[in-house]
Amino acid sequence: MSALVELRDVVKHFPVSRSLGEIVRGRHPAVRALDGVSLEIGASDAVAVVGESGCGKTTLGRLMLKLTEPSAGAITFDGTALGGLSGASLRAFRRQAQLVFQNPFDALNPRFTIYRAVAEPLLNAGIPRAEHADRVAQAFRRVHLPDLERYLDRYPHQLSGGQLQRVVLARALVLAPRFLVADEPVSMLDVSVRAGILALLREVRDDMGLTAVYISHDLALVRYLCERTVVMYLGTMVEDGPTAEIVRNPRHPYTRALVAAVPVPDADQARAPLPIAGNVPDAREPPSGCRFRDRCPHAFARCAEEAPALRETADGHRVACHLDN
Ligand code: SF4
Repeated sequence: MSALVELRDVVKHFPVSRSLGEIVRGRHPAVRALDGVSLEIGASDAVAVVGESGCGKTTLGRLMLKLTEPSAGAITFDGTALGGLSGASLRAFRRQAQLVFQNPFDALNPRFTIYRAVAEPLLNAGIPRAEHADRVAQAFRRVHLPDLERYLDRYPHQLSGGQLQRVVLARALVLAPRFLVADEPVSMLDVSVRAGILALLREVRDDMGLTAVYISHDLALVRYLCERTVVMYLGTMVEDGPTAEIVRNPRHPYTRALVAAVPVPDADQARAPLPIAGNVPDAREPPSGCRFRDRCPHAFARCAEEAPALRETADGHRVACHLDN
């Protein structure tokens, strides 16, 4: 099966302002958000991208939607290079690829009514106004807000967080996209409404046959949404494989730490201590060799000298660790 979304050796560095010393030394510091990421996502696949803050997962999602440009490498959508899109071809791509924002309270213009907010993508895409009401109503039904009259004249501040996230999802779906990126879609919501939004995301994806990428720091959350999981650490992919396999048998030491951090339902059950300590290093100056080596309990001399390549293991994972290669 050919990939709908494909990344080849994608690099994204964000230049940062230079200190006097760096100017004198001729250095050009940059936050190395992504370094050499290659990934294929098949049509109708649901892929989780997980990792701590600063691992590059949000940048990866924005690159796939052409909301930012790579510093190097290539990204294609349905065989077409995103780098070459502009004008009509870019508008056509925007109709097919949508983002669900992390914070529904910031995602909508506070001066727009809910109807106007959901209809806005139709307007931008040049859909005739005569079709807007029907398409907005259809999007509202998809997200289980069928009582359109109750919402259409309201403003975002008049809705609860859960209702707002349904509106944000309706806005993302109103153009019937093929590809959806959801960036921490429930992290800003009360625990009481998270399960409902997650179930809705799953239902929508199944019903519409969407290709979906869910970005999260929480492996527990995405394991019910995605058949495949990609684990990121400091701008690189460290493990990729079937979610059930990754949860049952994590191969990379960092993935093992993420799995160990998944909450257990029984509060009295003893939990093993997290197998790593410390924080993610500065992305302007990542460690040599394996970027995880400062926190890895298994690091050895080779880890400081050579970056491990992502290689396929016998059980179908791709793992970037010298212990597995
Ligand atoms: Fe740990 Fe070395 Fe494997 Fe990196 S390559 S995860 S430092 S053992």
